[in-house]
Amino acid sequence: MTLSFDPGRPDGENRSPLFAVSPDGTPELGRRYEIAARCGVAVRVQKGQLLEVQNTHGTQVCDFWAFCADEIQEYMSMEHVHTSLKSIFPKVGDSLVTNNRRTLMAIIEDTSPGIHDTIIASCDHQRYQQLGCTAYHDNCADNLRLAMIAVGLRAPAIPAPFNLWMNIPVGDDGAIQWVAPVSKPGDRMVFKAELDMIAVMSACPQDLTPVNGVDCDPLELHFLVKAM
Ligand SMILES: [Zn+2]
Repeated sequence: MTLSFDPGRPDGENRSPLFAVSPDGTPELGRRYEIAARCGVAVRVQKGQLLEVQNTHGTQVCDFWAFCADEIQEYMSMEHVHTSLKSIFPKVGDSLVTNNRRTLMAIIEDTSPGIHDTIIASCDHQRYQQLGCTAYHDNCADNLRLAMIAVGLRAPAIPAPFNLWMNIPVGDDGAIQWVAPVSKPGDRMVFKAELDMIAVMSACPQDLTPVNGVDCDPLELHFLVKAM
């Protein structure tokens, strides 16, 4: 049987590779990097280092993934996080685990009201086609793939992302909605790596639903890696 779906292969191209922090993803500690609007960036974070993600404009969602540096097939898994936390809403003090149930990082700061999403898949080429796009549309899945290729890696899967600041209210009946973030300009989340990892962040290019604010205008984010 011939398999046609390669999760690491982009469906299109965008500017993400221009924003690679270095050839292998190793950052300059303390330097503030941009995640350009509609693009993705991969960065290596060593055990004990802190990763700070900044919602510069307050309305922008960040699709966030992390892969173990010593085993790329092991990555932060929202399904396993749900079990570990007995919740779909991670908060400060919580640990984020992998698909092998190891602790990959901890959330040590969140200046926003704490509304984030862990249940919605990242946007991808197929999602935009279903929303009526006929041409290629930037998407978070390709941002992940392109950001990893830009640092010499390949996405082994498109894991369910931790969607920072994404506001998906869940009703008592289980119904969900896509609404604007409640975060404010300058809000930040800080994660402490418990294992060496490759973090990937996508400034979600969704402009057909209001997940990136009611004006549906995707904007840039920023991040930095620093020592404890
Ligand atoms: Zn997206």
